[in-house]
Amino acid sequence: MPKVKVDMNLCEFHGQCVFVAPKHFRFVGDDLQYDELISDEDRQLVEKAAKACPQLAIKVSD
Ligand code: SF4
Repeated sequence: MPKVKVDMNLCEFHGQCVFVAPKHFRFVGDDLQYDELISDEDRQLVEKAAKACPQLAIKVSD
């Protein structure tokens, strides 16, 4: 299962990830929460969110 990691030291809460992949990234109060494990089918969408992140804070790995 692909793993997702957001470097919260880089994240500036721009929200593009939430916009691109709301199923996997969400704001809860002032906090960004996200799914750390995703299905293979969702990988492409989460990689699209990672590309959209202006801070390049999102990493997807195997
Ligand atoms: S797009 Fe990047 S900087 Fe913006 S909230 Fe998501 S992880 Fe954080």
